[in-house]
Amino acid sequence: MKRPNRVAVIGVGIIGACVGWNLTRRGAKVVFIDAGQPGEGVTNWSFSWVNASNKTVRKSYFDLNVAGLATYRELAAAIGPGSWWHPSGHLRWADDPAAEAKDLKNSELLAAWDYRVEVCTGAEVRSRFEPALTMPGEVPVWFYPDEAWVHGRHLVGRLVGQAVASGAELYSGIAVRDIGTGADGRIRTVALADGSRLDVDTVVNAAGPHASQVAGLIARHLPMRREPGAVTRLDCARVPVHRAMHAPHIEIRPDGDASVVLHSREIDALIGTGQDPAELGRLLRESARRVVPELGSARVTETRVSNRPIPADGFPSVGALPSVPGYYEAVSHSGITLGPVIGRLLAAEILSGKRDEMLADFRPERFSL
Ligand SMILES: Cc1cc2nc3c(=O)[nH]c(=O)nc-3n(C[C@H](O)[C@H](O)[C@H](O)COP(=O)(O)OP(=O)(O)OC[C@H]3O[C@@H](n4cnc5c(N)ncnc54)[C@H](O)[C@@H]3O)c2cc1C
Repeated sequence: MKRPNRVAVIGVGIIGACVGWNLTRRGAKVVFIDAGQPGEGVTNWSFSWVNASNKTVRKSYFDLNVAGLATYRELAAAIGPGSWWHPSGHLRWADDPAAEAKDLKNSELLAAWDYRVEVCTGAEVRSRFEPALTMPGEVPVWFYPDEAWVHGRHLVGRLVGQAVASGAELYSGIAVRDIGTGADGRIRTVALADGSRLDVDTVVNAAGPHASQVAGLIARHLPMRREPGAVTRLDCARVPVHRAMHAPHIEIRPDGDASVVLHSREIDALIGTGQDPAELGRLLRESARRVVPELGSARVTETRVSNRPIPADGFPSVGALPSVPGYYEAVSHSGITLGPVIGRLLAAEILSGKRDEMLADFRPERFSL
């Protein structure tokens, strides 16, 4: 298989940044193109929890997420840790017997799959990890020590900065409007919103929630779900939590030195029922206050509703599309967890033509049948 001459990475969120960084590192010529600014799409409005404990629906998907965690550790060694990387583990507890039984069953399955999990009590969590939490002293809490959270926008900035320093090109604030193919069906060009055209022989569709529109440029139908989520940032003079956690009715994590991020599936269910994002933000803060009282006085800085980039069957779509030589897809929910491993595997496939077994269940052509 011939090495590509020039690869256009369409979309520079966490997934495009990871693919482009890996390609550049291996000597490929990369041009990053983003309709907005790198890292400011859903990557910046994510709960950003790096995990496999929530991925037990299918063993191959769990294994891919476990590889995602391992690839983060390799990435941190390669580019250096910093404001983007927070390997502080994850806490989960419930306030009703049915949810608690579900958490217990999941933790037993995970332990059987050799995934590290510790069970503590609420009192131990407060004394060992998180003194600002209110929770019953005897409540069981599952602690997943190998999990993490990531500052997605900072990571994208770091990866794109390194790639550009190594020769990659970056077009930001300009959308791809067309993808041109030759008479042989191979990728030849991408056309940008300003009317310019770039010669490329490979494209990577990493357009996140807009991936089906980009797929449409080569007349491909990529079916995607519509599952919006609301994320809120709070301004805090002192950040009272130290790690990502799923508390009853609310997910909380730090977001740097002066900010906290909140999300809740229960609040997501209210999207489209007439409440504006500011109201959703206030509801999230109210839920967080019950777990971390001092968050009750924190100011909501912004709430954003974003679509999750989820292919229709819920699983990633990653790899070549054999019917259009030179076209590759890299579209996934849990893209924060999976970005680095998708980047590593897809870059290897683009450069060698070899298809990694780890992606066997997540191939784009399953939607072409
Ligand atoms: C509420 C919520 C909570 C989440 N929580 C988690 C979590 O805890 N853990 C986890 O792993 N994942 C989580 N996710 C999912 C995760 O955030 C996404 O899977 C991931 O950020 C996707 O990254 P991306 O690079 O594909 O998309 P994006 O970050 O959106 O990047 C795509 C880029 O493509 C650009 N683009 C679009 N169209 C074009 C075009 N025509 N031309 C050029 N550029 C274009 C956009 O400007 C954008 O910058 C969550 C998502 C949501 C919404």
